[in-house]
Amino acid sequence: MTTWREQAACNDSTVDPEWFFPELPGLAGNKAKAICNGCEVRKQCLDAALWQSVCGIWGGTTKSERVAMRRELGMPLVSGWSARTERSRWEQQYYELRELGYSDFDVIRKLGVKPQSLMRQLNRYGIKASQDLIDLVQEQKRSS
Ligand code: SF4
Repeated sequence: MTTWREQAACNDSTVDPEWFFPELPGLAGNKAKAICNGCEVRKQCLDAALWQSVCGIWGGTTKSERVAMRRELGMPLVSGWSARTERSRWEQQYYELRELGYSDFDVIRKLGVKPQSLMRQLNRYGIKASQDLIDLVQEQKRSS
C-alpha cells in the first residue's frame, strides 16, 4: 500500500528540498507552492501539517499561514517541541529531514529548535544523536 508521502509531488529527484524551507519567503517558497498546487496529496499533507509545529511549506502553505488557519478553525495552537506529538510522527519528521540529506545542524535550523531541545527529544525517544550534535551541545554548555 502506498502512503500519501510516496505520492507527493515533492518526492521527486528534480525537486530541491531547499525550496520548501526558504530562509525568507520569496522565490523559493513560491516555487514550492507552485509544486504543491499540482500535488495530488495536498489535502493530506496540509492536514498533517496543521497538527504539527513544522516549518517550511506544507500543503501549499507557510508556517504563519497555518498558524492563521488553526486560529480560524479554532484548533489549539501548537508551539515547538511542547506540542503533544506522538513518537511516530516526531520520528517520521526527523528521519525525513535526515533522509533528505539534512544533518542535525540543518534539522535544528529548519525546525527552529535549540540543540539542547533536539538532544532531549532524541534521548527521550531513544534515537542516537550524531557526534556533531553531542559536541555542539557540550560546547554550548561550556560557554554558558
Ligand atoms: S502538498 Fe506540497 S509539500 Fe505537501 S506533499 Fe504535496 S508537494 Fe509536497
